[in-house]
Amino acid sequence: MMTEKETSLEQIQNFKGVYPKQLWSLFFSEMWERFCFYGMRGMLIIFMTTQLAMQAKEANLQYGATQSFVYAFTFIGGLFADKILGFRKSLFWGGLLMIVGSIILTISPKELFFLGIAFTVVGTGFFKPNISTMVGELYRQGDSRRDAGFSLFYAGINIGALLGGYACIAIAQSYSWNLAFGLAAIVMTISLITFLYTQKSMGSIGLSPINSKNSFQIATYVGSLLAVPVIMKMVSTPSLTDIFMMLIGPAALLYLIYEMRTCTKSEVSKLIAAMIFILFSVLFWAIFEQAGGSLSLFADNHLSKSLLGISMNPAGVNNSANAFFVIVFAAIFGLIWVWLSKRNAEPNTVVKFGIGFIFLGAAYYMFGMLRNLADANAIAPLGFFTLAYFVITLGELSISPIGLSIMTKLAPQRLGGMMMGMWFLASAYGQYVAGIFGAAITNPDANASNMDKLISYTKGYTNLSTYAFVAGVILILISPLIKKMMQEVK
Ligand code: GLN
Repeated sequence: MMTEKETSLEQIQNFKGVYPKQLWSLFFSEMWERFCFYGMRGMLIIFMTTQLAMQAKEANLQYGATQSFVYAFTFIGGLFADKILGFRKSLFWGGLLMIVGSIILTISPKELFFLGIAFTVVGTGFFKPNISTMVGELYRQGDSRRDAGFSLFYAGINIGALLGGYACIAIAQSYSWNLAFGLAAIVMTISLITFLYTQKSMGSIGLSPINSKNSFQIATYVGSLLAVPVIMKMVSTPSLTDIFMMLIGPAALLYLIYEMRTCTKSEVSKLIAAMIFILFSVLFWAIFEQAGGSLSLFADNHLSKSLLGISMNPAGVNNSANAFFVIVFAAIFGLIWVWLSKRNAEPNTVVKFGIGFIFLGAAYYMFGMLRNLADANAIAPLGFFTLAYFVITLGELSISPIGLSIMTKLAPQRLGGMMMGMWFLASAYGQYVAGIFGAAITNPDANASNMDKLISYTKGYTNLSTYAFVAGVILILISPLIKKMMQEVK
């Protein structure tokens, strides 16, 4: 087995073939982490309504608060990784906190619910952005295989999401909630062990920027533990989440501007380009994340129950179709980029983003078309709905793994973690805006007929499709400008 000293960064980055071998370990580590994350996420709202006796509206707000927080904290996790802990220690610490959170929920899910969730929020903040940044470090600047690596990594994310999302809730409903949370704790432990094993072949990647005995590191550990009760209070009080969301974005922006003072002109230009991608991604996730909200209600009420002649639960299809298509197509997509790049025909990242929005727009246009395909009882075909999910996934694959990849290309190495955190912060805002969009397109009249409800949803989806098309066209039109800002980065 190789040791740190035996594997130099150059050896890692000079790998042969399409993927560096270290990618596989990060792939599995992230796969198990996402199993834990999506497993817990998939249980949240049902746990809150059935076990904590919350009303649906309250539970929805609570769920939204958790999701916004979990992604907002990635900015802080990325920042501390850059400045103090390095990626490895951040990841390890984050993983440990996630395990503690899941164990708390295993032991006493009802009484200690928000404490367990708060540990998970802080833990994910330290884990999620930093493992993605480490994937980027496996590649030399300018290596055209990087996007393919991120596409494969993205498949791992979704395998974890699919398995965890299904297994945890199934165990919770058939056996016990404690056992389901316990499963999350076990898989997170597997994730950490996988990562420990990986470290050995990572050379200097992810080491701390400062001396390992430094008191700042201890302060970071202690500080993150002290943050737990504060986050617990905030997550359990959605109005405080609103305030937090209002502050964290501007604060992150101001901090970025502050950091820019030490950057060269070329670095500043690339950081601004990264910010443009991040801003557009807020809109992407705001539309995309209807999946967990309005689309799941739509699926439950307005779809037939058969897909290609097989009887299916439409809400289940809504929850799993996207992950399924990502798993099947992510690596193929990645290989298409490598193939095109060998022929000098790979579209640049801005155009890929533009294409991603066009796919998203096409998919939501298809959701809008379900109005015309519905029968007199306002029931539309599940097959066409699933096809739209396929198109969404093509959009997601043109934006999400590419976004991870471009963050690692555009950020100077010392700000890599923070910029990755910013990328995920956009997801936090996306989740937040998704809730607002979802509420706006749901028919407010509780006594509305099924047909009226369908019309309200489908009109909303057609509107969202227009936003996506407009964003896509704008991106493609301004692509020469952003390309210029990106300098040598493609
Ligand atoms: N599904 C992806 C993941 O879990 C992307 C999430 C996001 O950025 N909103 O990593």
